Amino acid sequence: MNDTIAAISTTMGVGAISIIRVSGNDSILIVNKCFKGKDLTKVESHTINYGYIVNNKEIIDEVLVSVMKSPKTFTMEDTVEINCHGGISTTNKVLETIINNGARIAEPGEFTKRAFLNGRIDLTQAESVMDLINAKSEAKRKIAVKGLNGYVSSIIKNLRKNILELLASIEVNIDYPEYEDTVEMTNEIIKPKLIRIKKKINKIIRESENGKIISNGITTVIIGRPNVGKSSILNKLIDEDKAIVTNIEGTTRDMVEGTITINGVLLNIIDTAGIRKSSNIVEKIGINKSIDLAKHADLIILVLNNNEKLTDDDKKIFKYVENKNVIVVINKTDLCNNLEINEIPYNNIVYCNTIELNGIDSLKNKIIDMFNLNKLSQNDNLSLNNVRQISLAKESLNMLEDALNGIKNQVPIDIIEIDIKRCWEKLGEIIGESYTEELLDQLFSQFCLGK
Ligand code: GDP
Repeated sequence: MNDTIAAISTTMGVGAISIIRVSGNDSILIVNKCFKGKDLTKVESHTINYGYIVNNKEIIDEVLVSVMKSPKTFTMEDTVEINCHGGISTTNKVLETIINNGARIAEPGEFTKRAFLNGRIDLTQAESVMDLINAKSEAKRKIAVKGLNGYVSSIIKNLRKNILELLASIEVNIDYPEYEDTVEMTNEIIKPKLIRIKKKINKIIRESENGKIISNGITTVIIGRPNVGKSSILNKLIDEDKAIVTNIEGTTRDMVEGTITINGVLLNIIDTAGIRKSSNIVEKIGINKSIDLAKHADLIILVLNNNEKLTDDDKKIFKYVENKNVIVVINKTDLCNNLEINEIPYNNIVYCNTIELNGIDSLKNKIIDMFNLNKLSQNDNLSLNNVRQISLAKESLNMLEDALNGIKNQVPIDIIEIDIKRCWEKLGEIIGESYTEELLDQLFSQFCLGK
C-alpha cells in the first residue's frame, strides 16, 4: 500500500472539468514533476494552486491543483487532486502524464479501500460510500448518508461494548476467583444480560429487514410449469393485461414485469418462462433465467394447476426454491381437483382461479402476513444496510443462542464465555474489525474507478 495511485474520479465524457485524484506517499512529488507553477512540495496543505500540467515542456492543460497532506485527507495519505478541463482526450492525457511520472492506475474502490485500511472509516462506512454513489432515490440517499456518518458503526460498537463488559467481568471471575469484592458471575447473573443483548440484536435485524423492504420493495417472482396460469395471475395482481395469456405452452419465454403497492410497499413482480424439461435452446435459456431470478427473489409465488397431479417438473421446482419465502398458489380451482395437497412441501397455500377472480385477495393477504406489512412503520430505521451486515448479525445471534442454551444445560461458564466471545467477534466483522482479503477484494471491486 506504499505506492502512489491515480485515477480519474469524474465520469468519463465531455464536461466542464474533470478531476484526477492522486494518493500515496509520493503523490505531491509526482505531480510536482509535471506541474508548472508553484513548487508543490513547498505549498501549505489544503491549498489550491494554479498552473499547468506539462509533459516534456509541452503544455497538456491549464489546471488547478489541490494539495492535501496526510492525515486530514479521504485516504489519510498525501493526496493531490488535479482539476483539468473536461473531455476524454485532455483528461486521459493528464492521467497518462501522472502515470509516466511514477504513479500507478488505481483499482476500482482503491481510494476508499485505503481510507478503510488506514482507519479513517470502517467497513459499514465504506459500504455507505458505495451506496451513496449508487443511490437512485431520496430514501436510499438518506440511508447512505446516515451510514456514512457512522450510524451503523455506533449501533454495533454499542452492542460490542455491552458484550465486552460482560466478557470482562466473566474473565475477572475466572482469573481471580479469590477476589472477594468481585461479584461471582453465575449463569443466573449472565442470563438476563444475554437476553437483553439478544433482544437488541433481534430488534436491529427486524428494523433492518423492515427498512430494506420499505426502501427496496419486495422482488417477487412467479414461477411454475407452463400453462398453470402464471401470466394470468400476474395480470390479475397488477390489474392489467401485461403478460400474454394463451393455452400454448412456452408462450412466456422472456420476463414480463409489473408492479403493485401493498400497504405502501412496492412489489416488483416478474412473470417467468414456464419451467419444464425442454430440448428447445431458446426455451432452455428462458428456463435457466427463471431459475436464476427465483434464486435472487425475496418472494416466490409458485403456481400449480389444481386440475393436474403433481409432475416431476413441479417437484424439481420445489427444489429450486428450497429455503425461500414461498407462497404456493393452486390455480384453476374452477376445474375439478386432481392435485394432492399433502404432497406439497409448503404451508403457505392459497387457492385461486383467475377466470372468476377468486383468491387474488387471499394471495395479497398472504403476502401481507408473510412480510408483516401491516406492522411496518415508515419510521423503521435501516439500522444495517445490506445483506452482508444483516447475515452477520443473524450469525452473531445464533452464537448468543448457543450461549443461552449452554446456560440452560448448566455448562461451565468458561465454555459459555467462548460463545459470547464469538458473538462479539462476529459483530466486529460487520464494521471490519476483522476481515479477509477476499471480502475486501469482493467489496471494493464493486466500486467505480476513482473512488
Ligand atoms: P402460464 O403459461 O403459466 O403463464 O399460463 P397462462 O396464464 O398463460 O394460462 C394458461 C391457460 O390457462 C390459458 O388458456 C388461461 O386462460 C388458462 N387459465 C389461467 N387461469 C385459469 C383458471 O383459473 N381457470 C381455468 N379454467 N383456466 C385458467
